[in-house]
Amino acid sequence: MSERHQVTMDRAQRWLKENTKRYAFKKLEKDIIQPGVCVECGSCVESCPADALTGDLSSGKYVPTLTGNCTSCGVCYAMCPRTYPLWTDVAGHFRSIWKARSTGEHRKQDGGVVTALLGYMLDHDLIDAAVVACRGDSKPWMPEARLVEDAKLLSDCGGTIYSHASVVGKMMEGFKNGALSVAVVGTSCDIDAVERMKQHPAGYLSVDRRRSVFSIGLFCMESFEYPKLKAWLKSQEVDIDEISRFEISGGKFRVRTPKTEHEWPVSELDSAASTSCAYCHDLTSMNADLSCGNIGSEEGFTTVIVRTVAGEQVLQEAVQEGRIEAELTDPKSLGTIQNVARSKRYKYYGMKPKH
Ligand SMILES: Cc1cc2nc3c(=O)[nH]c(=O)nc-3n(C[C@H](O)[C@H](O)[C@H](O)COP(=O)(O)OP(=O)(O)OC[C@H]3O[C@@H](n4cnc5c(N)ncnc54)[C@H](O)[C@@H]3O)c2cc1C
Repeated sequence: MSERHQVTMDRAQRWLKENTKRYAFKKLEKDIIQPGVCVECGSCVESCPADALTGDLSSGKYVPTLTGNCTSCGVCYAMCPRTYPLWTDVAGHFRSIWKARSTGEHRKQDGGVVTALLGYMLDHDLIDAAVVACRGDSKPWMPEARLVEDAKLLSDCGGTIYSHASVVGKMMEGFKNGALSVAVVGTSCDIDAVERMKQHPAGYLSVDRRRSVFSIGLFCMESFEYPKLKAWLKSQEVDIDEISRFEISGGKFRVRTPKTEHEWPVSELDSAASTSCAYCHDLTSMNADLSCGNIGSEEGFTTVIVRTVAGEQVLQEAVQEGRIEAELTDPKSLGTIQNVARSKRYKYYGMKPKH
């Protein structure tokens, strides 16, 4: 090994030690090699500073294999093109991350921050309307996208409905009717649709620069198809129309009715999940101005990831006006968000057909 190569290896290991969690080869094997996600590029084997890996060709394909002593330096995992070791890989760029809650009566789900922020923006004419998802009249847990122009009407629409809502369609309806500036709340798939309209040369928001969208993305592990969710709950002897609250946290799916509470591991509901979720990699709505969820904060608070200058301004102004209380999160919370975001990416790998 040349001296220069050794210096490069040492510097790479030092950077990983100082800046990230380091994963041993065992983790690469579990996440990438065993599920058949390895691209056989040889990057892990040839980057190993301990020379502990070999590309085993005996099966007719190149299989990275531990043949020496793994020092858990993390280089193999970091250099694999199919892993997501960095925060930016799994949860995107951000300016700051807050644990926050509304000071008003909005706390239907977590800290009620989303509703409080929309209220602030409507009251100060920063937007013409907000697009939210509300409970339907006849089927309460089938979401109905709504365009709200008066902050007083937002209180009908707080809380989480765990099925897709056509919020982007409703946003377009607002633009067709003359709105110029709209705030949209949605999961990462909704926010990606807005981003497409901003970035594509033929996109509505790219062609007409007078229109603007402020986006509040919701963390989302998965969403459910309403008919399948209803049927699944029925199989558990729970009538969906009697549920007053749904919640997913800590890997558990919880529902509350006026008389009972039920809890199941989220994985038990896989059959009711929206098929489109198998193609989603993004837990935290990486393209939003602000991303909100409960992961990383204790009960009763919303975690808010600030990604843009516009997002920062709105949050700070709402805090200054006393509508929201907020404090910066600690590194442990960041680690928790990162771990869940990474597990969402690898869940996608697990759903792919095995060859
Ligand atoms: C399908 C789904 C899955 C989620 N999964 C997770 C998760 O795994 N982990 C996590 O930490 N957080 C998840 N969240 C986000 C979380 O449930 C809260 O919405 C978030 O923490 C904000 O809470 P809040 O009290 O500040 O919001 P609130 O002030 O209660 O406001 C909630 C806002 O969300 C809107 N909304 C509700 N349902 C939908 C919907 N289906 N589509 C679009 N907008 C909607 C409402 O209109 C309202 O504006 C999920 C949200 C959804 C919609």
